[in-house]
Amino acid sequence: MSRENLSGLVDACLFFMTGIFYFEEKIMPELKNLLEQSTQFHHDHVCPRQVLGVRMGMYAGELLDLALPQADKRLFAFVETDGCLIDGITVATGCAVGHRTMRVMDYGKSAATFVDTLTECALRITPTRESRTRARDYAPNASDKWHAQLNAYQVMPNTELLLAQEVKLNISLAAIISRHGLRVVCEECGEDIINEREVHREGRLLCRACALGAYYSPSELLVGQNHSTHLDTIDFSAVETWRIAALPMVD
Ligand SMILES: [Zn+2]
Ligand SMILES: [Zn+2]
Repeated sequence: MSRENLSGLVDACLFFMTGIFYFEEKIMPELKNLLEQSTQFHHDHVCPRQVLGVRMGMYAGELLDLALPQADKRLFAFVETDGCLIDGITVATGCAVGHRTMRVMDYGKSAATFVDTLTECALRITPTRESRTRARDYAPNASDKWHAQLNAYQVMPNTELLLAQEVKLNISLAAIISRHGLRVVCEECGEDIINEREVHREGRLLCRACALGAYYSPSELLVGQNHSTHLDTIDFSAVETWRIAALPMVD
């Protein structure tokens, strides 16, 4: 072997060992810590999807070069399913529905798009197609497929576990985030609408439920401490007072 080849081989070995060292010294403790948080968050339930969520969030931080979990609102996540994956992503990134830095796009997919709102770079991260079948190779002693995935997803290299693709958003993130403190009243149902979610229909300002159809149909019953009664027997001025008393004003 020539001297150049030998030095190339030594470099490759060093690079490989540095990679392992980086994974074991840096990634593993952080992953373990985040997974513990996710598990606690999830009533002590640990599962492969939470591991995937944590790994996806950590990978997003690495690729976008952001220090995560964030203390601000720079990173925004679109997560394509609800459930355990979200808990993993939340602890790893700090993005949360409650912080208005996460939105569930319910496609029923273990996938998420992470948007750096400063640079507008958007990365969609999914598990690789092979990740599930490759899990056995990384956890040959696991008792079943589920445990193999649980263990393997914690040690598989990013590139084998996850696929990241740059994407362009077809919806306006600025419109989703909207502006703080905006509030209008629906001309049909009289309920408040925040975050510019109103719809203009034939000169009227309506909530989406009234304009586009709601996910519920109201019954005739109002249910509450003193209001389990039919609408036609209700004094509406009293209902209004009850509503305002029961619902603290947010703004
Ligand atoms: Zn789970
Ligand atoms: Zn309405």
